[in-house]
Amino acid sequence: MSYDESHSPAPRRRTSRTTLTIAIAALVPGAFAGWLVWQATGGSDDDGGQVRSASSPSTTGGSGGRAGSPGPEPRPSTSPSPSESPSEPARGDDGVPGDARPAPGEGPLAGRVVVIDPGHNPGNFKHTTEINKLVDIGTNRKECDTTGTAGNSGYTEAEFTADVSQRLRTLLRKEGATVKLTHENDRPWGPCVDERAEIGNKAKADAVISIHADGSAVGNRGFHVILPALVKSGGADTSEIVGPSRDLGERVAGHFVRVTGSAPSNYLGDDTGLDVRDDLGGLNLSTVPKVFVECGNMRDSKDIALLTSADWRQKAAQGMADGISSFLKR
Ligand code: ZN
Repeated sequence: MSYDESHSPAPRRRTSRTTLTIAIAALVPGAFAGWLVWQATGGSDDDGGQVRSASSPSTTGGSGGRAGSPGPEPRPSTSPSPSESPSEPARGDDGVPGDARPAPGEGPLAGRVVVIDPGHNPGNFKHTTEINKLVDIGTNRKECDTTGTAGNSGYTEAEFTADVSQRLRTLLRKEGATVKLTHENDRPWGPCVDERAEIGNKAKADAVISIHADGSAVGNRGFHVILPALVKSGGADTSEIVGPSRDLGERVAGHFVRVTGSAPSNYLGDDTGLDVRDDLGGLNLSTVPKVFVECGNMRDSKDIALLTSADWRQKAAQGMADGISSFLKR
């Protein structure tokens, strides 16, 4: 089945407030960016606001393609097509291929460990039996993993998450962090969600970020960050990570807005770009600060135009890197 580990089953739409927020962001970019960054950094907006103008494709959503009410979450209906929108090699933020790292032990994040979890696996489509096997997530039993969603063109969430993860790794390594990916072309499917959590735990990660894109109704737009709920059940106990994970998530959301210019989700999170969930094994089983990022809605034509843009993905990775870096330097 293709139920996504991270996708909201019942998206809600908040059209009017979001449109207003976007308009305000266009008119007073510093104020809007400052609001979220203020939340994210506890008041020290040391990076400067940089929201794009209203003419930017990334900030003009919310007015078109909104006919009808949101139905159930669309499922990917096409097989992955490797020939469409192939992932591009990771680049540094200077646009130069390669992985410019400081010498070991140098850089502001030296000694800090970040685990990046690329949501899903491009091979999951071919291993439905394996990924449908149930695993214990503390509160429940749930599918090992899912295929993830896809755009109408066949560009898959797994391709997207692999690409952004590599870009993010490059950026964090430049700051001196030790970075581990939960998987990278090294296994035909998975890992299961419990193993994804375990990888971060065993690495004693200072921060873990699980990267996704949503598969919601047309007209549902924008990014959101998912935070762990307080869960204490079976093998799950998030009591130690709820606070720091929220701190991490607020910083990531604030910097994501600032760097990409994308608005927070217009269908959940009450325009904060933040959502709290207790049904995700990847969060329930984590013992280290962890958040999920849903970068946009692959089923919306305007969001998918961003998600398939290498330039936008680089900005998305930069926003996440800045948020993580801010969290680790706090
Ligand atoms: Zn996903």
